[in-house]
Amino acid sequence: MSEIPYKIYLEEQEMPTAWYNVRADMKNKPAPLINPGTLQPMGFEELRGVFCDELVKQELDDTTPYFEIPQEIRNFYKMYRPSPLVRAYCLEQALGTPAKIYYKFEGNNTSGSHKLNSAIAQAYYAKAQGLKGVTTETGAGQWGTALSMACAYLGLDCKVYMVKVSYEQKPFRREVMRTYGASVTPSPSDTTNIGRKILEDFPGTTGSLGCAISEAVEAATSTEGYRYVLGSVLSQVLLHQSVIGLESKIAMDKYGIKPDMIIGCAGGGSNLGGLISPFMGEKLRGEADYQIIAVEPASCPSLTRGVFAYDFCDTGNVCPMAKMYTLGSRFIPSPNHAGGLRYHGMSGVVSQLYHDGYLEARAVEQTAVFEAATQFARIEGILPAPESSHAIRVAIDEALKCKETGEEKTILFGLTGTGYFDMVAYEKYNNGTMSDYIPTDEDLQKSFAQIPKTE
Ligand SMILES: *Cc1c(COP(=O)(O)O)cnc(C)c1O
Repeated sequence: MSEIPYKIYLEEQEMPTAWYNVRADMKNKPAPLINPGTLQPMGFEELRGVFCDELVKQELDDTTPYFEIPQEIRNFYKMYRPSPLVRAYCLEQALGTPAKIYYKFEGNNTSGSHKLNSAIAQAYYAKAQGLKGVTTETGAGQWGTALSMACAYLGLDCKVYMVKVSYEQKPFRREVMRTYGASVTPSPSDTTNIGRKILEDFPGTTGSLGCAISEAVEAATSTEGYRYVLGSVLSQVLLHQSVIGLESKIAMDKYGIKPDMIIGCAGGGSNLGGLISPFMGEKLRGEADYQIIAVEPASCPSLTRGVFAYDFCDTGNVCPMAKMYTLGSRFIPSPNHAGGLRYHGMSGVVSQLYHDGYLEARAVEQTAVFEAATQFARIEGILPAPESSHAIRVAIDEALKCKETGEEKTILFGLTGTGYFDMVAYEKYNNGTMSDYIPTDEDLQKSFAQIPKTE
């Protein structure tokens, strides 16, 4: 067999033309979204007040395996995709491992992460429906940036509610969004009822994703011609992100490579869900087996320590409720947590697959994550996002295990983005002032107590 190149690219004509919907192959489907008031499953008519029509259809569809990618989205993808699949020869050598390590690098676009894959799809369907604009929240800022880029390209208005602590810590992220024409409001803000209520109840709060979501939904549903879009968690987002896994699979198949292990970081579950989708499909259909590992921060451990229950997706309880692994919608990671992946819940698809034993989860501490990030940057050259570095940590750990056992495992991990805007976090690590805060069982019990009883 020919030598595997450092980077495996695809020709334009080899790129995927349809997204893959892993739900079609799941025996146990993710539970439906329910209305927080009536606790009844939400159908098309109810959801279309919040989300764009085509996206609601995708959200509700548990059976169609493939959705054709509209030509205009494929054209946009061609500007920054295919993303490279890199054989980490240098890292393998530095670790002295017999393992073969590959990573799929999604940071090769201005927004710096995989989020653009879904942003362009969501903006496209909003535009196709004749809407004026979209609202959203952003935490660290990657999603807001990606959506601003997509909206600028299609000529849509974009209103972003940005978690206040990030708004203050990441002024450059904010300016990138504004450069692409988005308006950016720190959340909680006094521009919505929910924001005002949260400011009253928790004066001085630095905000949370759950709270920013509530504000963005309120802004969308109270403004004519607007809908709300979300960068993770929802099944439609996993569907769009399947492009990551599909490209990886096509590239690996070209060289006859079969991964033994697939590793992804998990915040809301979209990059992980997208990366694993086609491989998981094979696993669900009994055609192949893979070890799949979701990696989350020890300070926000929704899979490893959360409960599987219907919960609110947002702090203000205005969104549909989802059945997922959750820490409780009022859970806010400790302020010294700088590593991203701060969301309290997890995609319903990833949650159900985890619940059914198709993937495992690990929680890692942020100092260990930044240690891996730094090692990776110095060896492979790319400055990784803190989120992505969770996957790097476990990939390195697994490669080192192979060194002990002599196993030549093939490891694929998702390198979701770059960390240029995360230098405050890197600064803490470099100064030795980064600490790990792992919530106690008591902290979590308090937060679980807020989860509503629905069953
Ligand atoms: C948003 C983000 C994540 C986490 O989100 P998921 O929905 O879990 O994929 C991971 N890495 C980067 C770089 C991100 O921007």
